[in-house]
Parts: sequence; structure tokens; C-alpha cells
Amino acid sequence: MRYVSTRSAQVPGLPFCDILLEGLAPDGGLYLPESYPQVSAETLAHWDALLHDQGYAAVAFEVLSLFVDDVPAADLRAICERAYAADVFGDPVVPVTELSDDVWLAHLSEGPTAAFKDMAMQLLGQLFEYELGRRGQVLTILGATSGDTGSAAEYAMRGRHGITVFMLSPQGRMSPFQQAQMFSLDDPHIVNLAVAGTFDDCQDLVKAVLGDAPFKAAHRIGAVNSINWGRVVAQVIYYVVAYLRVTHAARTAGQPLPKVSFAVPTGNFGNICAAHVTRQMGVPIDALILATNENNVLDEFFRTGVYRVRSGAEETSSPSMDISKASNFERFVYDLLGRDGVRVAELFGPGLRATGVIDLSGTPEFATLRERYGFMSGTSTHADRLATIRAVEGADGVVIDPHTADAVKVAHDLRGSIDGAIVVTETALPVKFSATIVEALGREPQRPAAFEGIESLPRHVTDIPADADVLKQIMSDRLASRTQG
Ligand SMILES: *Cc1c(COP(=O)(O)O)cnc(C)c1O
Repeated sequence: MRYVSTRSAQVPGLPFCDILLEGLAPDGGLYLPESYPQVSAETLAHWDALLHDQGYAAVAFEVLSLFVDDVPAADLRAICERAYAADVFGDPVVPVTELSDDVWLAHLSEGPTAAFKDMAMQLLGQLFEYELGRRGQVLTILGATSGDTGSAAEYAMRGRHGITVFMLSPQGRMSPFQQAQMFSLDDPHIVNLAVAGTFDDCQDLVKAVLGDAPFKAAHRIGAVNSINWGRVVAQVIYYVVAYLRVTHAARTAGQPLPKVSFAVPTGNFGNICAAHVTRQMGVPIDALILATNENNVLDEFFRTGVYRVRSGAEETSSPSMDISKASNFERFVYDLLGRDGVRVAELFGPGLRATGVIDLSGTPEFATLRERYGFMSGTSTHADRLATIRAVEGADGVVIDPHTADAVKVAHDLRGSIDGAIVVTETALPVKFSATIVEALGREPQRPAAFEGIESLPRHVTDIPADADVLKQIMSDRLASRTQG
């Protein structure tokens, strides 16, 4: 399998491990496989048996093998077994729960930081360590976080040979739980930097440092943001597994398989991009329901065909979806436009920069979007979130987090026009967003034992001004001391 950029499909394709350590393609596009491997009904039946005999890691290996041909099979299998071990994600990995009205939850948040980003990050940590070791290289990860990405990255990269992480976060803006999760990590290769500024200031600092090409090269700086293909492909695995779990009973009883749709709370179009890829692989997913919060850039596109970047994101009670533009959306548009890299380059390059708008309304491609790609969409607000958390708790006795609630809300809105099971991807545990749970239910969410008392652990964080030169100095000092010993 070779990988191409969404902006110039004719470049010779690159193997998986070459794009693994890269973010954007050199032409500014995102990497995708040259074509999607196809999965037959027989293969799914085989994977279903494998899932029940050997568990998640075995299916992860099968799925990844379709996309990765430059890692020996035994190594890839061991990587999957380490990433998805029972002591990392519990057992079974990605269980499903049935709620009322044939709506289901796929539990993706049982990992070390209680958010679905662990599912991809843990695999990425293993793949990075493996590939760096093979190449005799080191890697410095520089990132900015408003919460979930930073902690998932730190818990996946800590203790990984050859990797140092610098993670910027806006001083005092993350929830106390999120701060405690990140800052309690005591690891010489994990460096938490609290910036006097907003999340946008943090992102600007990252851009400024990455824009200094000599500095970037000298310190071997890379990124783990959601445009990394490794993260998307890791997420394909859980769509396959959730599909198998929901259809398992019918499969073993020899009954016709139920229709299965997915509802996904969306920010950067990362999670639902993996759902799209899974559907393109021939896994028989019916509808893909995209749910946004008040920052509804993507819902607007799927309803109207107009993608309109906002000047800034509104702060909401599902903060991990507070985005003004969706960085993975280009991957879907590339497929939608028949993989025309020249057209995508024009739309997302000069076109988007000049106008902030991509208008596909009235195109034949947009007209076939629901029929060919299964997409439907909707928006959820703060009031919807509270009402949905209450309703699910009342009907099913399950407490869901605000992001998951956005998807449950939109799933219920569309329930009348979709047959069969609707599986909602649960993207975080409620304990991460307790203020909203208290507002909805009048009580604190349950806290898993692993997170007892984390707020009182010693904090490892350095306050810095929003100044790229200060940041570069800190990075140089830390990386120099590391090379010496
Ligand atoms: C990151 C995140 C999302 C959004 O996921 P995307 O892949 O960016 O669409 C939703 N919910 C939670 C809890 C998250 O951490």
C-alpha cells in the first residue's frame, strides 16, 4: 500500500512508515492510501470469530495489515498487542452497550486518559518507538492542547525510547481534572508548558517554532495532531470492531444482519473520517451521522454544500469540538471530488485562503453525498447537551459526557429516517467534564479508581510567556541536557 497527498495525486506514492513520522505532505495536502483495501463479508465473518477468540489486538493486526506493508507481520502483531493490552484499555477493548430505541454506545474512553484519543495515540506511540528504533533516530514532539489531545499524547509517548514531548496549554483554561492528568506526569521526557495566553496563542507558538526550518530540522521536531494518517487508520479498527460487536448476535444465530449506522461527535473531522474510510472499505455501514456543537462548520457543509471557516471558535460545554475549521475535512472532499488532487489543491490552497469559503452547493458531487457516502448531520447546543445527559440517565441509567451527548442528540433527531442500530461513539468519560454533568444531573460523575485524588499529586509544569524565542530556548536547553545523558 502506497500513500498519496490530497493535493497532488500524481506524486509517486510513499510507504506507510515514511508518512508515519510526517504531518502534512510537502505540498500542504494530507496523506491517504492510493486506494481503500476492500473487505468482503467472508473476511468480516472471519474477523468476528477472531475477535471473540483472540480479542481486539488480533483484529487490529488484521485491519492494519491491509494498510501497512513495510513492517514485518510478527512485529506489527506485537505492536498491536502492546497498544491494546488489557492493562491499557481493560477487557474487552471497545465494549458496546445498548440503550433505548436501538441506539448503542461504543465505549472508546476506557484508556489511560478517559478519552477516545487514547485509542489512536497508544498505537501511534508503539509505532513511533518501533520505527525510530529501526532508523536509529530520535523525535521531538511539539504540540498545543486545550485538553484531550495533550494528555492522550503524553500518556502514549511517555517512557518511549527516543521521544521527548513539549506540550503547550493555555494557563488556567483546562478543567482541573485535565490539568491534573497532564501535570501529574513525572517523566523527564514529558515537558508541560503553561502559556500565558489562549489556545490560539499556543497554536501560534507551535507554528512559529515549526516555521523555523533550521531549528525544526536540528531538533527533529514532529507532530501528533489529528491530521496524522496513523491516527486515522488506528480509528478504523474500532469502527470495524464496533460493527462486529453489534452484529455478532445475529451473525451467530444465522439471522439477517441488522443495519448499522454510526453517530459521531465531530471537531476536526478525525474520528468520522475513520468512519468514512471504514465504509469505503466495504464494511456495510448504513448512515454516517455527523454531530457538531454550536461550532457547526461541518453541519453547515453537509446540509448546504458550503464550507465556511469561522474567524474563531466559540467556547462551549463540549470544548473538544470547539473548532473554527476542520483539519481532516480535506480528506473527505478529495474522495467526494473523485480524487482530483488539482481541484482540491485549488479549493483548499489559494481558494480557501482568499475567501474562507468552499462552495460545492449545486455540484453533482454534493447532490450524491447522502446516497454515495451515507452522510447526514445535525447540531447540538448547550441546552440539548444538558437535556440529553438527563434523558439518557433517566431512560437507561447511563451517564454520558457532553460530547457523546451531542451525538446522541443528533442520532435521536434523525432516528425517524434511519432503520436499524445507531452506534454512538463515546468520546470521553463524564469525569473529564464534571462541571457540565453537575449542571445536568446535580451531582458529580463517577470517578474511576485510577483517577482518585489526581488533583493532589505534585504538578510538573512550567509557566512561560507567549514568546517563541523563550520557547525555543527552553526546548534547546532540555534537548541538550538529554543528549548529554
Ligand atoms: C477530540 C474530541 C472530539 C472530536 O474529535 P475529532 O476527531 O476532532 O472530530 C470529540 N469529543 C472528544 C471528547 C474529543 O476529545
